[in-house]
Amino acid sequence: MKNDLYDVTIIGGGPAAHSAALYSRRKELKTAMIAKEEGGQLLYSSEIDNYLGVPDVEGFELVKKFRGHVDKYEPDKLEDEVLGIEKEGSEFVLSLKKGEELETKTLIVATGAKWRKLDVPGEKELTGKGLSYCTTCDGPLFADADVAVIGGGNSAFEGIIDLLPIANRIVNVDIAPEPIADPVLQRHVKESDHRQEVELEKYYGHEILEILGNDMVTGLRIRDKNSGEEKEVEIEGIFVEIGLIPNSQIVEDLVEINDAGEIVVDCNSQTTVDGLFAAGDVTNVPEKQIIIAAGEGAKAALGAYRYLIHQ
Ligand SMILES: Cc1cc2nc3c(=O)[nH]c(=O)nc-3n(C[C@H](O)[C@H](O)[C@H](O)COP(=O)(O)OP(=O)(O)OC[C@H]3O[C@@H](n4cnc5c(N)ncnc54)[C@H](O)[C@@H]3O)c2cc1C
Repeated sequence: MKNDLYDVTIIGGGPAAHSAALYSRRKELKTAMIAKEEGGQLLYSSEIDNYLGVPDVEGFELVKKFRGHVDKYEPDKLEDEVLGIEKEGSEFVLSLKKGEELETKTLIVATGAKWRKLDVPGEKELTGKGLSYCTTCDGPLFADADVAVIGGGNSAFEGIIDLLPIANRIVNVDIAPEPIADPVLQRHVKESDHRQEVELEKYYGHEILEILGNDMVTGLRIRDKNSGEEKEVEIEGIFVEIGLIPNSQIVEDLVEINDAGEIVVDCNSQTTVDGLFAAGDVTNVPEKQIIIAAGEGAKAALGAYRYLIHQ
């Protein structure tokens, strides 16, 4: 069954989608917001201290603030997953997982990103059995345990910082010869390392070959990329923090996508298809941050508004 025709439909429930919904409704556009899980990545973020005007806030608290603000303007909200998008004339028809179809004059894709996987034996079987993709969420479950953090970027180092006061021993494995996390985070880890007497074992230039364990994680098999030497490291918990993959699959046959899987947008948040806009972590806009996603969501909504009045 098809719904009424919307002026703008926003796919997503993170900062980009909330901001787009707010701006669309304030322009009095008939607006739908469809999200699999309202909140997006904020649900997995503990302390956030770089969103202007809202210092020191937990992710879920910020989601509550976003939701409260947006709900004041009453967009139609659907908890559902968009499975497919067809362009019919100048309109878009969305197929939803719960069976409905929805028609819209413009579309804003704000579907964010998901965790990148290692793609090695043992990973799938041991996910949730000692292997996690979110140190912030699951770190506290590993009190006094020997754990490994995989990755050398900001999320990996933020993970190590979270684990320093909790874990007994921390192993950091990265395929690159040196970590690329911001210097401030690396410094924090170095200083905490001495202060809290947690042993930080570093395996840089090493690739992961296998996650070991039957019912629970018991270790990692790694290989030195230079010497080819293999080694088994005993640990009880693994945090995979190797970045994100943009959730762009639903539009991959419609719009231009770059090599990183991001939707290509111009400075008006317009994709390569008229009336189809995108915002936030799913796009090629550099820097994946809440304030940037929110700003891009606002831009996409204003872009959709301008597109509609020129139609
Ligand atoms: C652990 C962690 C800590 C972070 N800490 C910070 C920080 O301190 N400061 C900061 O600025 N940034 C931080 N970030 C980054 C920040 O959270 C993201 O940049 C931001 O959430 C991106 O917003 P978004 O709206 O583009 O996407 P997301 O937050 O990823 O939201 C995407 C939304 O789309 C929905 N969705 C996806 N596909 C579909 C579909 N097919 N149908 C329907 N809905 C769909 C999802 O359910 C979700 O609601 C952190 C991220 C993580 C993971």
